[in-house]
Amino acid sequence: MQIIEPRIRGFLCTTAHPLGCAADVERQIAHVAQVKGKDKGAFADGPKRALVVGASGGYGLASRISAAFGWGAATVGVFFERGAEGSRTASPGWYKTAAFTQQADAAGLHAANFNGDAFSADIKDQVCDYIAKDKALGQIDLLVYSLAAPSRQLPDGRTAKSALKPIGKAFAGQTIDFNTGELRDIALEPASPEEVADTVKVMGGEDWEAWVQALAARNLLAKGAITTNYTYLGSEVTWPIYHHGTIGQAKQDLDRAAKALAAPMAALGGKAYVVVMKGLLTQAASAIPGMSIYLSLLFRAMKDAGTHEGCIEQTSRLMAHRLYGGGLALDDEGRIRMDDYEMDPGIQDYIRANWSAIDGENLHQLTDFAGYRQAFLEMHGFGFPGVDYAAEVDPAAPLRLAN
Ligand code: NAD
Repeated sequence: MQIIEPRIRGFLCTTAHPLGCAADVERQIAHVAQVKGKDKGAFADGPKRALVVGASGGYGLASRISAAFGWGAATVGVFFERGAEGSRTASPGWYKTAAFTQQADAAGLHAANFNGDAFSADIKDQVCDYIAKDKALGQIDLLVYSLAAPSRQLPDGRTAKSALKPIGKAFAGQTIDFNTGELRDIALEPASPEEVADTVKVMGGEDWEAWVQALAARNLLAKGAITTNYTYLGSEVTWPIYHHGTIGQAKQDLDRAAKALAAPMAALGGKAYVVVMKGLLTQAASAIPGMSIYLSLLFRAMKDAGTHEGCIEQTSRLMAHRLYGGGLALDDEGRIRMDDYEMDPGIQDYIRANWSAIDGENLHQLTDFAGYRQAFLEMHGFGFPGVDYAAEVDPAAPLRLAN
């Protein structure tokens, strides 16, 4: 038993709180129950058997919660997380998945977890075997691919690393020191062609296609199955580092993959969609240089406008009103746009007008850095009002794994 406090180094927090992570999951489940209570019609049609790759954090976890608690879906989650070891806490995704599984069990919802490398053929085989044999599954009707990984071991044994760098010219910008709230200059040299190619290998669409192929080869995709992959476009102020950078190249490859998947999915009467999600603070997003300023400005503008959403709001709205709700509203590239409120001209005008005006004096006035900081703490299970952080807790949390 021990008292667990946040231990923050740079943009990393090396501890996580099991009870706070459980509170996060409970809050997300409560959100789904609330929207369902208000708008039952929107929950008539939806996923029944879902596989979520990258299911333990951010958009993947929220997708799993929406599918399970919104539509009663049986869910299979694949993720890469670490259990507690001695006094070292587990990773947030471990605690959140343990809490999700407990809640799903209590609600009589089928949930199976696979902890391992989603890129590997081995995990794909294990998951396919499980889906084929399990009575509640047999096939799946929704595949959510929501992986955000720093690296990928390729079949030849080489490890490709994902880089967060500009392409063509150097990037100079600012970031906010998480602990002090001070602004710091950052400078990044452009990526080499190899770094660009490796980022596409890790965060592009190839592994999404491999999952669809693995499932389809064994007839594990139900008639009318849908698959999604999440992308980000964002504001032009972040384009030098995001959209026009290495990660943007990888995201463009998702559009290619969605087109390549159109025919095999159509053969089943199904669809493959790239979905443009809103910018939010998740483990993956916290690593992107300069994103802290953009997200702090965005949170301020969207909260003031009453349109701010978190992961669970986004995934529930996506499933209830777009994927199954009959209102796809695709853009010219065939993508589903869930960044509609973020891209609202009023919101973007505010960001453009203040992007270069922020300094140490006016940070809290112009931005919601406090909200950004709070979201960072909550991501690791800290800062939840109902949790007694002064009490000792057991860092070990049992998590039922199917592998
Ligand atoms: P996240 O860091 O919260 O979650 C990533 C998930 O991937 C976790 O479940 C993690 O365990 C899993 N994972 C990582 N490596 C793995 C591996 N090798 N094998 C198995 N699982 C692995 O990330 P997120 O922000 O929710 O990102 C999910 C997707 O959404 C990404 O494609 C991201 O680009 C996209 N997206 C994010 C944002 C944002 O602002 N956060 C906006 C739009 C789109």
